[in-house]
Amino acid sequence: MAINDIPNLRHAVSLKSYNTYRVGGEAKFFYEAHDWRALERAVSAARESSVPFYILGGGTNVLASDKGFDGLVIKMMAGKVSMAGEVMHAASGVSMGALVNKAKALGLSGLEWAAGLPGTLGGAIYGNAGSCGSETANIMETVEAFDPISGRLKRYAKHECEFGYRNSIFKSNKEIILGAILRLKKSDPEAVMKKMIENMKFRQEHQPLSEMSAGCVFKNIEIAKCPAAAYLTEHNPEFSRFKSARFLPAGFLIDNIGLKGLKIGGVEVSERHANFLVVNKNATQEDISWIIKMIKEKVSDVYKINLEEEIQIITN
Ligand SMILES: Cc1cc2nc3c(=O)[nH]c(=O)nc-3n(C[C@H](O)[C@H](O)[C@H](O)COP(=O)(O)OP(=O)(O)OC[C@H]3O[C@@H](n4cnc5c(N)ncnc54)[C@H](O)[C@@H]3O)c2cc1C
Repeated sequence: MAINDIPNLRHAVSLKSYNTYRVGGEAKFFYEAHDWRALERAVSAARESSVPFYILGGGTNVLASDKGFDGLVIKMMAGKVSMAGEVMHAASGVSMGALVNKAKALGLSGLEWAAGLPGTLGGAIYGNAGSCGSETANIMETVEAFDPISGRLKRYAKHECEFGYRNSIFKSNKEIILGAILRLKKSDPEAVMKKMIENMKFRQEHQPLSEMSAGCVFKNIEIAKCPAAAYLTEHNPEFSRFKSARFLPAGFLIDNIGLKGLKIGGVEVSERHANFLVVNKNATQEDISWIIKMIKEKVSDVYKINLEEEIQIITN
């Protein structure tokens, strides 16, 4: 099938409505895949027509280029969830909010950390999203994926997913996550709800939730893997509280340099959380990229630490 034969294919679709920064140009082609067969059809049509494609979940952790995407953006819409006791089988397009609500309603523990986490299950698996001391990997049993090159469906056991800090095998193998089996634990419904409310409150206090953002822009620094960070925590009194921590927060470095409140165009380093860039409706990808570059340069100059982006770029 050629790309133009995909049923319900849309043309020249602005990406602004599909990411939480509300920036970006147009996708030449745009398709909403409601199940894996539709996804398979769209991917093979794109490949047959030599058109590049980009997989989009909730768009809560991406930066879309002002130039748009000269190819096919496939938005993952499959949202089926089924339960068997403590086991949840969910499609990748389901929102984390829906999974959290389901766990809450059934008094199942394991997803408390995700209360208030935006985006889809697929996006959370891709980047091993985490918060409040836990992460997606902790509840994974298996992940189902589609290999666009061989056209094969695959099933990964948790240990095969190579989960790490904001990382999974899917970042490197470029397979498309179709769904997953999550293992939760029967618990006291009151306790589950209480923990979720607590975690939500933590978010409200620490994140600029009333403004548009894409969450943390940079990964925190794994101290054991970064000699400059290890030196700082060992020898600089300002950093001593991170001495026995696993991470040096990127936001702490950005704040320490005095960049909170820095504005460029429609973008600002959040006053509430220095690792968040908050935007207004005039923001462009160029503004965001510019401020990211500037932060990286300053942090590198002052601390000799290279920040790495957590957000993913949609570009050709
Ligand atoms: C206010 C706010 C708070 C946030 N708080 C947190 C937090 O506490 N912890 C945290 O970790 N993150 C946080 N984030 C970031 C974001 O919500 C998570 O990273 C989320 O898991 C991304 O999911 P998504 O569906 O929106 O992915 P998208 O943004 O759509 O995509 C992100 C990446 O995943 C890939 N992807 C998405 N779905 C699939 C799939 N099915 N198969 C293959 N690849 C796929 C995309 O290609 C892209 O590269 C926050 C964001 C916001 C806006």
